[in-house]
Amino acid sequence: MTFEVTILGSSSATPIFNRNPTSQLLNCNDKFYLIDCAEGTQQQLIKFGLKASKIDYIFISHLHGDHYFGLIGLLSSLHLNGRIKPLHIFAPKAIQEILELQFKHSDTNLKYELIYFAIDPTKSEVIFENNDVSVQTIILNHRIPCTGFKFTEKKRLRKLLIEKLEQDEIPIELYPLLKRGVDLDLPNGNVIKNIDYTTDSATPKSYAYCSDTLYDSKYFESIRGCDTLYHEATFLHEMIERAKETHHTTALQAAEVAQTVGAKKLLIGHFSSRYKTLVELLDEARTVFPKTELAIEGLTFEI
Ligand SMILES: [Zn+2]
Ligand SMILES: [Zn+2]
Repeated sequence: MTFEVTILGSSSATPIFNRNPTSQLLNCNDKFYLIDCAEGTQQQLIKFGLKASKIDYIFISHLHGDHYFGLIGLLSSLHLNGRIKPLHIFAPKAIQEILELQFKHSDTNLKYELIYFAIDPTKSEVIFENNDVSVQTIILNHRIPCTGFKFTEKKRLRKLLIEKLEQDEIPIELYPLLKRGVDLDLPNGNVIKNIDYTTDSATPKSYAYCSDTLYDSKYFESIRGCDTLYHEATFLHEMIERAKETHHTTALQAAEVAQTVGAKKLLIGHFSSRYKTLVELLDEARTVFPKTELAIEGLTFEI
């Protein structure tokens, strides 16, 4: 099953040095989940050959402009391009009022339905689930209410050992039950042991998205053991006081989070405009957590 994330923006606050503010596109089993939607997100999707029309779910972490100012443009374009299937938006409650005001004054009546889910920023909870993935909120510590999102794959059905099934002439209509892990008692008294004909599916993986936040151990529990952690790393650690003031994290701290929660891989992003190049931020994080990568525009990471 595909489970990967493509980075559409890596900048904090403003677009600069060919870096866009935050947005990411998660592909889980060929269903597409947009995480944050900064200004320029549409252009980034086009640039990297990704289809906005395939997005059915949008998750917005908080209402600072560098995380959602691209939303109205994207929603309008989908309308103009003839979208009719519903679109789900998981975001702070006020997003509905903000968008409806813009639609009202532009006399826009969307051809498709927008389904809003108002995130409760006070508690970590599962806000979405389908056959592929579940999404749990992560309560971050920022200047305004801000939630991250942890995407966890659903456990897949067991894998059939087709050759063995055919060799023993097991009826094909029993395959679905075997996939679910059931042992089968046949009318003739024989038992088909599941373990003889199937193997376990891969362990489900998880992707935790943390932006923007102060370094705060309160959210560590909800991201513990994640496979890939995206964590903001706005500053180098020499700017720790500025990071605290603005409720952001340094590259060193992001790496400490990854190490503390036992993540397998760390992606860092949300870089301040004071950094023209990013290698120092990467090097700093790698002193603590070697498996760190820069989450920069156009890169796709397997979770
Ligand atoms: Zn931000
Ligand atoms: Zn922010």
